[in-house]
Amino acid sequence: MIKLYNSLAREKQIFEPIDPHHVRVYACGPTVYNYAHIGNARMAVVFDLLVRVLREIYPEVTYASNITDIDDKIMEAACETGDKIENITRKYEKIYNDDMASLGVLAPDVQPRATDHIPEMIRLMERLIARGHAYAAEGHVLFHVPSDPSYGALSGRSRDEQIAGARVDVAPFKKDPADFVLWKPSTGDQPGWDSPWGYGRPGWHIECSAMAEKHLGLPFDIHGGGADLKFPHHENEIAQSCCAHGHETRPEEFARYWVHNGFLTVEGEKMSKSLGNFKTAHELLERHKGEVLRLCLLSAHYRQPLDWSEALLEQNRKALDKFYDPLLRSEKFATVHVPEKDWKIYPPVFDALCDDLNTPLAISKMHELSKQSWRTDLSDDEIYDTKALLLGTGKLLGILQAKNKEDWFEARVTRSGEISRDDIDALVAKRQEAKKAKDFATADAIRKDLDEKGIVIEDTPQGPQWKWK
Ligand code: AMP
Ligand code: ZN
Repeated sequence: MIKLYNSLAREKQIFEPIDPHHVRVYACGPTVYNYAHIGNARMAVVFDLLVRVLREIYPEVTYASNITDIDDKIMEAACETGDKIENITRKYEKIYNDDMASLGVLAPDVQPRATDHIPEMIRLMERLIARGHAYAAEGHVLFHVPSDPSYGALSGRSRDEQIAGARVDVAPFKKDPADFVLWKPSTGDQPGWDSPWGYGRPGWHIECSAMAEKHLGLPFDIHGGGADLKFPHHENEIAQSCCAHGHETRPEEFARYWVHNGFLTVEGEKMSKSLGNFKTAHELLERHKGEVLRLCLLSAHYRQPLDWSEALLEQNRKALDKFYDPLLRSEKFATVHVPEKDWKIYPPVFDALCDDLNTPLAISKMHELSKQSWRTDLSDDEIYDTKALLLGTGKLLGILQAKNKEDWFEARVTRSGEISRDDIDALVAKRQEAKKAKDFATADAIRKDLDEKGIVIEDTPQGPQWKWK
């Protein structure tokens, strides 16, 4: 049994799947025109973990997460770089998927691209027009918000707030200021498709309604995304999908449970491209192992803000060192082979995850398990069982994947190559010698070389000390 906080009901509820044989989950994926920052990655890691937990309980789980590959921001990126839209979107889609894989995110079962679903979007818009929920005007198609009696059910926004929050300017052809765009005209070399309303392209919200319906069927179980998507994006998805199918008064007929993750912050402020306070997952992966970044992202409860800092990275690297210690450095443990079929999940960790994905509690239970492994009185059977639990629980959390001591403790795996702690110590010693010999050119060259590898040397009264940047 799993409990989830359902944003639509505004309470924690026992999750009851529509079909216990097959659970269906959708989470809004990235717009691919640039590197994702580590805040964007929080959603991917959180929903990956949720899906892993669901898979332990239910025989079949389908997880769909889309790629938005048509959007004004992508068009701007194409203008700025002079590159073709398709080149940009394919490039960043691949980088996103590679980076998420480094964070231990398993590929979604379906990763639909918006541009492959234009006919489905057109059909949905036709249904909305036929049912009096949308209208065409000057090459646009707009959803008529006052036609939807349930509009605002998810976000709880009043009508005034809805109007203030509607991103688009109040165009003269809008019947109501809260109406939002489903389709807009494309001109000149803007990308577009033929439609009953002329050459144009879809708005963002209609994409997800069309793709979720096609790949999961309606209603489906869980819809997720970042908390900022509640309004307008998710509110609009509900409006489109429910009104197109005659469920005007039943928002739960699109998705039953709405799960939203909180923001990653930096010194209390939301990490965002516009504030410039972001670090991309890609650049962090050059200096830190994916497992460390993953554990950082899971260290706070998914609904709470999580402040990103050097201290957070250090704390989670140390936590992983502790979890790996018995597995890779204890003679007793390292020599016992436990085949994957015997791996088991430590029940207190699983129980914590089943309670609305309580990862801070799950991680503290993982520490408890790892401590048990240091008991000196463990029998051979107990060693076997403890190792089976560490490996099985690690697999569920998406950590403890390194196979040997060298991979974890000695090597620092970076995109620019591998450098071990011993290599670094040797270079630092060489620099000291060069300094003593007043060969400052060599000393500086070594410092520069290490700096490029992400290592800084600090000269202290106790001698030089190095650390990862
Ligand atoms: P954006 O690039 O702002 O459109 O965001 C893309 C996705 O990342 C959306 O699902 C947002 O909810 C999510 N997101 C953006 N910034 C953050 C953040 N600081 N923390 C967590 N999620 C974020
Ligand atoms: Zn969406």
